[in-house]
Amino acid sequence: MHKGFVYLVGAGPGRADLITVRGAEVLKAADCVIYDKLANPALLQFVSKDAEIIYAPKRIGEGSCTQDEINKVLAEKALAGKTVVRLKGGDPCIFGRVAEELAVLIEVGIDFEIVPGVTAAVAVSSYTGIMLTDREYSSQVTFVTGREAPGKQDTNIDWEVLAKFPGTIVFYMGMGTLATTARRLIEKGEPADTPTAVIANTTFPNQRVVRAPLDRINEVCEQQKIKPPAIVVIGAAAASDTRFDWFTKRPLFGRSIVVTRDVAGNADFAAKIVRRGGNPLEFETIRIKPLTDSNDFLRILAKIVQYDWVIFTSGNGVTTFFDALEKLGKDARVFGSAKIAAIGGSTADRLSEFGIKADFVPGIFTSRELGKQLVRFVNLRSKKILLLRSELASNELLDILAGAGAQVDNISVYTAIAAKSESAWLAEAIGEGAIDWLTFASPSSVDGFFEQIDSEAVNSGKVKVASIGPVTSERLKELGITVDVTAKEHTLDGLLDAIEEAEK
Ligand code: SAH
Repeated sequence: MHKGFVYLVGAGPGRADLITVRGAEVLKAADCVIYDKLANPALLQFVSKDAEIIYAPKRIGEGSCTQDEINKVLAEKALAGKTVVRLKGGDPCIFGRVAEELAVLIEVGIDFEIVPGVTAAVAVSSYTGIMLTDREYSSQVTFVTGREAPGKQDTNIDWEVLAKFPGTIVFYMGMGTLATTARRLIEKGEPADTPTAVIANTTFPNQRVVRAPLDRINEVCEQQKIKPPAIVVIGAAAASDTRFDWFTKRPLFGRSIVVTRDVAGNADFAAKIVRRGGNPLEFETIRIKPLTDSNDFLRILAKIVQYDWVIFTSGNGVTTFFDALEKLGKDARVFGSAKIAAIGGSTADRLSEFGIKADFVPGIFTSRELGKQLVRFVNLRSKKILLLRSELASNELLDILAGAGAQVDNISVYTAIAAKSESAWLAEAIGEGAIDWLTFASPSSVDGFFEQIDSEAVNSGKVKVASIGPVTSERLKELGITVDVTAKEHTLDGLLDAIEEAEK
């Protein structure tokens, strides 16, 4: 049998796009991915649909796996001929117990590759401006574990040496032992007022930084309820210039923003929020249901070349259309010489993923403007136009185009149906004032949302509401919801621009 292979991959410190290019590449090729608690589950977006995904949290307590169990699964999957990715938080070789996993692989004769990752301490430095090295005050850095192997008799940590260490001391896994660590260092001569910083959830939108003198750090962390995973930095580095902290100055940093689309749309939108430093909370309101099995669709597909223009008014329309083409073994050549219009930038981007460059995109991204501007752009008299849209789209665009003398065919390629998700957490968070913004990107997501969440809770003044454009705002108003901002540019980025503007 064909022999398997194991990649031990560093997932990076948290934020999904901090994985290396090589790491993402091997994830795509994996038949089986084994990941742990510190590896961001958002990385699973890179993994093929057919791959087996195994969650192996290594922690004390229920539902967790022992290192032996993980080693066993790793070897088993590889021996079954699979390409296995063992995804580990940060860098696999920094406090990652990699040697134990490798020993098992060597024993059973499985080849492997190790893909490095950005380790937490290094990310902490970049994401807080706490410089671990500095030519003035720290020519050396040491990484120490706060948790040594259980049952180990002699400690490897020489507290005497550490207390005299003239550079930066970084503790991993140091939260549980922070008070003891501080006490031991001070006992061995480290000044009690040595600057110390604790950085939790680095690179994530909920990153927290606490700075205090060594003798007070534990108390301040307790007061501020700092939870692991966190890195402890001891030494002059911990007092570095706070102006180097660019991350928490991001425009949406610390803002909790609920996204209310379908699952794929939410993931897409969440990534944009993360890029602006915000904390996205995904709430599924709709499911996209393709309607491309219909005879109408198949009939139109056979004669698409006869159209002068084909119009897409959403990214979902593009995706469902091309998914259907793929299943039928066809590709973009079905369009022949028909021209293609997209309602806006993101729909045009989606088209370009399938090799199509839109011939027309209006300056303002609404279907009314698409109609009005297309009519001005070309003479549509007697031209044949095909609309590939949601079943729920209004007649406005169709009427404008028909009014200009075009022959318009409208085919529904998908519809949005209300989704039922777990909603108690969201209602509670809104009630507690823990959510800053609710965002709505379509009238159907408004409907899906308010089927699950009480409108009075939203109007309580504890949360603000942002809408992508006039049609969505209208739907919100019909339900009696106060709309705080409506995006000027009717895209997800435009929506975030509007929130940023309101937050200034
Ligand atoms: N291999 C990992 C470390 C595993 S040990 C790496 O290279 O980063 C687990 C410890 O890593 C945690 O207890 C914490 O100290 C640190 N850590 C991991 N992710 C972190 C994060 N996002 N923020 C702060 N510390 C983190």
